[in-house]
Amino acid sequence: MQYETIFQEIYRDLQPLEDPGQVADYIPELAHVDPYQFGVHLTTVGGDKFAFGDAEKRFSIQSIAKVFTFVLAYSHVKSNIWERTGLEPAGTPFNSLVQLEYDKGIPRNPFINAGALVVCDILAGELASPKENILSFIRRITGVDSISYNSGVALSEKKTGYRNYALINLMKSFGNIRNDIDSVMDIYFHICSIEMSCKELSKAFLFLANNGIVPHSGEQILSASRTKRTNALMQTCGFYDEAGEFTFKVGLPGKSGVGGGIVAVHPEKYAIAVWSPRLNRKGNSYKGMLFLEEFTSKTRSSIF
Ligand code: GLN
Repeated sequence: MQYETIFQEIYRDLQPLEDPGQVADYIPELAHVDPYQFGVHLTTVGGDKFAFGDAEKRFSIQSIAKVFTFVLAYSHVKSNIWERTGLEPAGTPFNSLVQLEYDKGIPRNPFINAGALVVCDILAGELASPKENILSFIRRITGVDSISYNSGVALSEKKTGYRNYALINLMKSFGNIRNDIDSVMDIYFHICSIEMSCKELSKAFLFLANNGIVPHSGEQILSASRTKRTNALMQTCGFYDEAGEFTFKVGLPGKSGVGGGIVAVHPEKYAIAVWSPRLNRKGNSYKGMLFLEEFTSKTRSSIF
């Protein structure tokens, strides 16, 4: 399949559309990002690569990192994750507080902020040096050692992270946070600040398209069954209160971040990452979603 030609065609078709989205300016450091950048990269399980635009430019992966931390917890830790977080779509914005009170401090799923904070708490308790261990995990599955945190972005979010502090304090009051709040927040703000390109992200997610095995190294990250379950969680919870729409329009499991990135996986075939910084009102990349919708329609490669 000549994916590059298809990328060009879709980009050209989307170009004239006015993008009503806004960059994520609630994190001050992200407000400076040039909103007109656009990149896409697809990597097949067989190792073929297809790129277009700013595919090698790094950006803030934000909530896409929740998949890495979840997988690390799911593959390594002894404690039962499902006693600490649910696995149902929340149907609420990523930083919503409303359900947590009713649900006695148990987040609906690991991909909303509350759930990702619980996962960071689990990693804080079980890994020797969580921040280093998380980075080395991502470096291993991509084969790229220069992937790192952006401490400026982490600090910027720390200074304005009122809702995230509210979420973690509420969960702590219910006994669902075991470690010191500041140490868990430090991990959370750092994972959100990781910078990667579309090329690196599509490579990093490839094990989820390959029954849990990293194609370039042969390392088994998750069992085939846990891989299926992780993809199912991305499908139902990866886009917050737009998970239904993403499933309806794109039809692949995936995860978004407020840096404007989206990664989607086609089991047995490929992982694709797209980046366009302007977000729709649900906090997902406006053009990224449109692009992927056109892509799976043109290539007939939705899982449905
Ligand atoms: N760092 C962001 C936050 O906690 C991540 C949100 C996102 O990417 N959806 O608000």
